[in-house]
Amino acid sequence: MGLIIRSSAIHAAGCYTTTAIRKGARVAEYTGRRLSKAEADTAYEDSPITYLFGLGDGSIVIDGHCTAMFINHSCDANCETCEEEGRVWVTAIRNIAPGEEITYDYCLYDGGDDEAICNCGAKKCRGTMYSKEEIKRRKAAAKKAALKARKKAAKKKQLKRTTGKTVKK
Ligand SMILES: [Zn+2]
Repeated sequence: MGLIIRSSAIHAAGCYTTTAIRKGARVAEYTGRRLSKAEADTAYEDSPITYLFGLGDGSIVIDGHCTAMFINHSCDANCETCEEEGRVWVTAIRNIAPGEEITYDYCLYDGGDDEAICNCGAKKCRGTMYSKEEIKRRKAAAKKAALKARKKAAKKKQLKRTTGKTVKK
């Protein structure tokens, strides 16, 4: 298979195919060192860009060192990733023509404060590289935080009022 890395409109560098790829074909394997989540968090604490791929429940990650690590996210991707016995394959979910950029949906779930803005340009772009579940989780967390902040503010106001009354007495 002819995969090349060159600049991409989506993000910095991207991975392109020079040959046609059939739906269902394995395009590339995501290879690299296996690290525990804690090891990866320590190693990449201050790095804005990482090439980590979470395996299974996310307790082990692959520290990408391969062609597949250059594959960009798209909300309307032509590939998906499949985990098989601890190995990760990028597999075509439709026929891909020569010259097309290879993409898969990152479905991010561990971004901290990062908004992970998506620039894929797809009609149905989610605007973020987070998975649908993670978007829901983050929205719920933000709502909870806002509610907590409002409650705190209300409590403060109440305290002020009480204090005021006490002073007037
Ligand atoms: Zn998108």
